[in-house]
Amino acid sequence: MKELTSTGIASPDSGAGALVLVVEDDEAARLTTSITLERAGYQVLEAADCASARERFAERIPDIVLLDVLLPDGDGYSLCREFLAHPRGRDLPIAMVTGLDDINSIHQAYESGATDFITKPVSWGTLPYRIQFILRAKQALNEASISEGKMRALLAGIPDIILRIDRDGHVIDMQVGTYVNEMEEWVVYDPTTGEGHLPGPVYRILAPQIRRVFAGKGEQLVEFEWSQAQKKQRTWEARVILRERDEVVMVIRDITQRKQQEAELRLWAKVFEGSNEAILITDAHLNIILVNKTYEKIMGYTEEEVLGVDTATVGTRLHSHSFFRNLVHILKERGYWQGELINKRKNGEKFPTWYSISQVLNADGQPENYIAIFSDISERKKSRERIDFLAHHDSLTELPNRALLNDRLEMAINTAKRRGEKVGILFIDLDRFKNINDSLGHAAGDQILRQTAARLSAAVRTDDTVARLGGDEFVVLLPRVRDERSLAEVAIKLREELLLPYILEDMPLHLSPSIGIAVYPDDGETPSTLIKNADAAMYLAKEKGRNNYQFYTPVLNARTLDRLKLEYDLRSALEQGQFELHYQPQIVAGSKTLYGAEALLRWRHPERGLVPPNHFIPLAEEIGLIIPLGAWVIAEAARQVNAWHQAGFADLIVSVNISALQFHQAGFLAEVQGLLAQAGTQPSALELELTESMLMSDMEVSIQVLQAFRDLGYRIAIDDFGTGFSCLNYLRRLPVNILKIDQSFVRDMQTDGASLAIVTSIIRLAESLGMETIAEGVETAEEVALLASQGCRLMQGYHFSKPLPPVQFEAWLTQWLAS
Ligand code: C2E
Ligand code: MG
Ligand code: MG
Repeated sequence: MKELTSTGIASPDSGAGALVLVVEDDEAARLTTSITLERAGYQVLEAADCASARERFAERIPDIVLLDVLLPDGDGYSLCREFLAHPRGRDLPIAMVTGLDDINSIHQAYESGATDFITKPVSWGTLPYRIQFILRAKQALNEASISEGKMRALLAGIPDIILRIDRDGHVIDMQVGTYVNEMEEWVVYDPTTGEGHLPGPVYRILAPQIRRVFAGKGEQLVEFEWSQAQKKQRTWEARVILRERDEVVMVIRDITQRKQQEAELRLWAKVFEGSNEAILITDAHLNIILVNKTYEKIMGYTEEEVLGVDTATVGTRLHSHSFFRNLVHILKERGYWQGELINKRKNGEKFPTWYSISQVLNADGQPENYIAIFSDISERKKSRERIDFLAHHDSLTELPNRALLNDRLEMAINTAKRRGEKVGILFIDLDRFKNINDSLGHAAGDQILRQTAARLSAAVRTDDTVARLGGDEFVVLLPRVRDERSLAEVAIKLREELLLPYILEDMPLHLSPSIGIAVYPDDGETPSTLIKNADAAMYLAKEKGRNNYQFYTPVLNARTLDRLKLEYDLRSALEQGQFELHYQPQIVAGSKTLYGAEALLRWRHPERGLVPPNHFIPLAEEIGLIIPLGAWVIAEAARQVNAWHQAGFADLIVSVNISALQFHQAGFLAEVQGLLAQAGTQPSALELELTESMLMSDMEVSIQVLQAFRDLGYRIAIDDFGTGFSCLNYLRRLPVNILKIDQSFVRDMQTDGASLAIVTSIIRLAESLGMETIAEGVETAEEVALLASQGCRLMQGYHFSKPLPPVQFEAWLTQWLAS
């Protein structure tokens, strides 16, 4: 027994306490059994027939039943079934006691659900062991079922459906995991056989895989879509594994979400790669971890070149540090930044980009990634600039339009206000432009307007604005004007420009503008009043006969315009050959001898006719034109006197009026020399007329210069002598040949004693200093006589001749010499 125990077989008393129900009608057998079992440590209940067996069973459920097949009130098989059918008897081990050769009984015992059978005659020695074996098998079964329960609990935690399926497609077992609510949908039961199988559509999909597994093809994996009753289509994954020869296990999992995520990922990958915008993703330290194709295309870098590189070192490092600090600050605050950045391609080219940068936070709320999306906006910018341009410019002439003019005028006014300056507005309208449009058509009109725009733009400074308000109305804005004068100068210049012929299909066309001028702050303080008043002034100009300009303020018109016009004309008169010299004879009184002729300048103005020098010489001096003009006079006089000498009027002297500016100009002597040499004229043929006042300003230098002229053979005369405050002391030292007695003394000397006294004093003074005198403005024979009686030898005046053009001068001279 000990040995047996040691080999793992429990001793019969290990079953001690187990309750055995012995059902036997043979009393001796029943007793022997009971005694044997009790001795082995079992508790025994006895029953002699079915009825008492039922009673015993009802009182206390036994651990095992020994059941005789033949009983007086029924058969053991039925009772066996009865016990097993009892709710508490389901797992009850029942051993049927049968006759030795009674195969049929054994078969029936099996059929009735008995656990085991014991043949008669019973071997009393082994019976306790037999029972122990049966009980142990039962215990093992119980334990197995407990472990299966654990297993099931474990499986319930797995979110998969696990099915066991046999070769016929029947579902042997099922574990539904988290799909517990769908259990019914996965297995359909046949009402007649009670067998379960997969729903038709699912089975049709999976049958081939199941077959393949049974055919030894190994584990199968399949994805399929199936929509269960009233549910959305879902995607499933089935894994089929061979379990036993006749059984497969199928694990089914809902992969709808995974599929969606995969699809989403694919979509994002497409969006990422297919995006027309460059996408750049960095880690928390701004090192690039991903860029897309568009990034490569726009920037010119390949992905490999930039991966792992600090993003701050590629592209946008063109902004200031403070800019970037601010950007990072905003990103941290709001998680998002958007704006324009200047970017740089690999080839160094800079271009504008529109950036959106987002911050991606990790679970702890710390920045993990930055995603930057940007696009090249150079084209967009260009077209936007074009649109902006068109919004502020006139499409025909591309000049600023009224809106832009208003803006600039406003700005100019603000600046001028601060600096105490003036702003000028010229309102220009083409006279009779409507006629051109009507008679030559709009295309011609457009051409005129475009040419006008071009001329006006070319004629003003860069910070001036030429705008077109519409039709043939133009406005010129001069933001910094010194005074009305300079404004009028611009008006004159613009008018001259527009007076030049317009060329239309090779045909010259003459137009004239009318210009109205308004000045900030005198004529208005706002853009609208200034433009309105300039417009009004323009109408005034039209009223005054067009081709004209007018200030809005009438006083300005009277004071400045005429003079300005003259000045403007004067500047071009020399080039235009509008000057000429007239000559007035200087005669030796009481003889038929000619001393010389004074060259007097005349301006033949195209509109005004012959303009006397008093009207323009001061102006020419003011604007510096006197220098070239004076040179022209000397050259022309030299040429003329030379021509006369050649023509036979030998010894003729021409005197030329020299302006102070000319005389004080460095290198004046050399210039005169050059001009004379060019004309082939001797210095002795030229007399320079200077005034006292111009010599007084720097007497010492003047004396030196005069001496130099004298040394070269030039003659020097002092013009208008007696009108200045001559210093007799200096006069003595001046190397001068001749004093010209001013015509005012000559005019008055017969009526005014003082004038006569001056005339005679000058004559005496000249005599004593060894100089000659010539009287100017001699108009009558009486004056000639009086002057001659005082000893004045040379005379000049209307009495002899007015200043004459060269040809007439020759005629006069010939006639005079002959008379
Ligand atoms: P000026 O040199 O004293 O010239 C004499 C002026 O008296 C001339 O006037 C002449 O036409 C005028 N005159 C001559 N005889 C008579 C007369 O009998 N009665 C009256 N009432 N006037 C007479 P004009 O030509 O108008 O010249 C005026 C001034 O212009 C000149 O005075 C001279 O200072 C200046 N001038 C003329 N030509 C030139 C020139 O080429 N260069 C410079 N710098 N000044 C010039
Ligand atoms: Mg003179
Ligand atoms: Mg004079």
